[in-house]
Amino acid sequence: MKLYEKTASELSEMLRRKKCSALEIYEDVSNRIKSVEDKVGAYITLSDETARKKAIEVDEALAKGEELHPLAGIPIGIKDNISTKGIRTSCASKMLENYIPPFNATVVEKINNADMVVTGKLNMDEFAMGSSTETSYMKKTRNPHDLDRVPGGSSGGSAAAVAAGEAILTLGSDTGGSIRQPAALCGVVGFKPTYGSVSRYGLIAFASSLDQIGPIGKSVKDIAMLQDIISGYDKMDATSKNMEYPKLTDNLTVNAKGLKIGILKEYFGEGVDDSVKESVYKVVKLFEENGAEIKEISIPSANFAMSTYYIISSAEASSNLARFDGVKYGYRAKEYDSLIDMYENTRSEGFGDEVKRRIMLGTFVLSSGFYDAYYKKAKIMQKRISSEFDNVFKDIDIIISPTVVSTAFKIGENIDNPVKMYYNDAFTVTANIGGLPAISLPCAKDEKNLPIGLQLIGKKFSEQTLLNAAYTYENLCGGFNVHSQIL
Ligand code: GLN
Repeated sequence: MKLYEKTASELSEMLRRKKCSALEIYEDVSNRIKSVEDKVGAYITLSDETARKKAIEVDEALAKGEELHPLAGIPIGIKDNISTKGIRTSCASKMLENYIPPFNATVVEKINNADMVVTGKLNMDEFAMGSSTETSYMKKTRNPHDLDRVPGGSSGGSAAAVAAGEAILTLGSDTGGSIRQPAALCGVVGFKPTYGSVSRYGLIAFASSLDQIGPIGKSVKDIAMLQDIISGYDKMDATSKNMEYPKLTDNLTVNAKGLKIGILKEYFGEGVDDSVKESVYKVVKLFEENGAEIKEISIPSANFAMSTYYIISSAEASSNLARFDGVKYGYRAKEYDSLIDMYENTRSEGFGDEVKRRIMLGTFVLSSGFYDAYYKKAKIMQKRISSEFDNVFKDIDIIISPTVVSTAFKIGENIDNPVKMYYNDAFTVTANIGGLPAISLPCAKDEKNLPIGLQLIGKKFSEQTLLNAAYTYENLCGGFNVHSQIL
């Protein structure tokens, strides 16, 4: 087995036992990038020089017998909306095409302090708006399991890189499903933590009340290890939760007995592919056979979650993206006659269609004539959905559902049909609306050999219960085989 095919925890073990060096791991991943990146297109920017330097430093420290973090020397790719000091952070946009941040996001500081090896910055939908990575201004990313299909989005580069062996772990961001949906479509593990548990400082904002950074990887243990690094209180983020964050990795356990699982009835209805439904039901059965208690539950307002999400996220996006005006940083139009003209031309030329659509929608729902009819109602609906979740969680530990209605679609298939594209998030947006932790796990392949994902949702700050359930499933099913077989 090649080094790039191993999990982070396996590589960590090998490093400690001196079975390989950090430089060998990095070189294996780097060679893999060289051989498949032309086909996959996961990266926007590679940081080969700094990565190599870091790997050598890790080897030197280990040789001296220094005590390093377990993930020291493990290659990690970072979504291109997370600020990296001195490394271009484009948000896959023309607006920030040449933006080099003067500071690191808190998560990047933490990754650097753990001595992980940053391979580069990963492709995404422009400003994280999209479900296929096709709105990227930079390039197309292809699904490593079928190169004619999308990897999902917006963290498509982050999910594709893991499935293609171009990184061992990656970071994504999830506002309405952007970690879980691409993880499902690429057959890898993707985790959106509870809102407030991972600092958003340095994450270029899309919808601040919903955005959350999280890990993508090959196994639940790898996810737990990375989450343990990035989570924690940060005074630089006013929404960061000040509390103890016990180490998830140390307490991972396999135990289905007595686990109370709710099947979210609204997420198994019309519009969901049969192969998806059947595969998730099989997992439910597996849990049940091993002692879990299964109960059908209902979130009656779940059907309003999509409209609620698109109103709130667009409203916040219209406000957050007001800062891109050609004055402070980023793109500025070459030709203009006045200040207003400069703003207009900059924003017309600098933003892509999907971003403009969100800004217009967001400005509309916040405008004085329509605020009550749209934004206010969406906020009321958000409260209702959250309280329905609180209610069902009185009786159960976790919720199970498909992550996405179907498997990966063809490149170009949905790009001119925004509503169809938005439907991809039907099952993921609720967790963001409620601020809940949720994970997508690979659970089967359909008849075209495309990965199917299942989603587990937990109570706020119940990451340990959620990851234990995920870990239990991973053990019961014999482990995930995340790598593409066609590259
Ligand atoms: N696909 C969703 C959207 O376009 C979710 C995006 C995200 O989570 N960043 O809004």
